[in-house]
Amino acid sequence: MQSVYLDNNATTMVDPKVKEIMQPYFCEYFGNPNSLHKFGTQTHHAIHEAISELYKGINADDNDDVIITGCATESNNWVLKGIYFDLIFNGNKKHIVTTEVEHPAVGATCSFLESLGVRITRLPINEYGNISAQQVEEAICDDTALVSIMWANNETGLIFPIHEIGQICKKKGVLFHTDAVQAIGKIPVDVQSANVDFLSFSAHKFHGPKGIGGLYIRNGVSLTPLLHGGEHMRGRRSGTLNVPYIIGMGEAMRLAVEYLDFEHVSVRGLRDYLEDELLKIKDVFVVGSRENRVPNTTLISVRGIEGEAMLWDLNKAGIGCSTGSACASEDLEANPVMVAIGADKELAHTAIRISLSRFNTKEEMDYMIAVFKKAVDRLRNISSSY
Ligand SMILES: *Cc1c(COP(=O)(O)O)cnc(C)c1O
Repeated sequence: MQSVYLDNNATTMVDPKVKEIMQPYFCEYFGNPNSLHKFGTQTHHAIHEAISELYKGINADDNDDVIITGCATESNNWVLKGIYFDLIFNGNKKHIVTTEVEHPAVGATCSFLESLGVRITRLPINEYGNISAQQVEEAICDDTALVSIMWANNETGLIFPIHEIGQICKKKGVLFHTDAVQAIGKIPVDVQSANVDFLSFSAHKFHGPKGIGGLYIRNGVSLTPLLHGGEHMRGRRSGTLNVPYIIGMGEAMRLAVEYLDFEHVSVRGLRDYLEDELLKIKDVFVVGSRENRVPNTTLISVRGIEGEAMLWDLNKAGIGCSTGSACASEDLEANPVMVAIGADKELAHTAIRISLSRFNTKEEMDYMIAVFKKAVDRLRNISSSY
């Protein structure tokens, strides 16, 4: 049976080039880079190269910090809890601005801080699935410690106005964090032109290994560590460096930048082709304009068909998609972004997220289109609501 992976916003395949470059760092060069003997120092050059790819990939300045973390969930937790200690618990700020549609790594951490007495403003998205810089400007108060808004949404792929928000935060003197997990490798990401103070990323969303990510911290910005211990990573994050994974993430970032044009043209071309064909089916809707969306993502709704039922039919034919966030898709809940854009209750349960990568092909799209159409016919025939 054919096997087609269209759930790249949940995780991606490790690029074989990434796997290859990691290989020697398990059994040959296994030293602790902090050790002073040759086993330790053997890894220094490769780690340095990998980390400099991370700096290049997001256009960080040499004086900024790019700190390796265990995942983007850690990066997001770290920014919010670190700022809590710096500016709220030990300072006179009391307020954080975020959106209603952040990844749970931001959303649930904000709820935790709320339970400690922090005031959280969660900006709603508009009917186009986006938020405006003006909403952010109006939400910032004298006691705002941090603005945390994702670069691109994981469900819809919609790109938020990060450059304008960065300008506003700079003007108002408020720290700005962006979860850029869904932007890296899909659109250009430049921490300097966007005026961000913190930026989270995760290797497994751009064809690197799972269980490693990073946090960009602008030069001079203090952030209480989440993990105290040794002096790793300039004292910002303790724990022995995960050498092979850091090297893998560096290579994955290098490739992500190298393939940006390919993503912009070829992946987008496949996505648009697929979307155009699926939109020919009666009563099918796509969320958000194409211009403002990362090239690989489509959130599509088929009136009359539960998202889960559709996934089941696709899965039987060897196709992997999702009804939304991998973290939330286990229970039969309405897609949160669909609810936020004001979709009626029935339509909110029909969302299917299709997310491509540079490894998908035209043949796979044709297979998907055929299977999708067949599934719509079958499920609408047995549906009581259609
Ligand atoms: C996947 C994802 C995360 C979590 O990344 P992990 O490295 O798996 O913890 C955070 N934010 C967004 C937008 C994501 O898509």
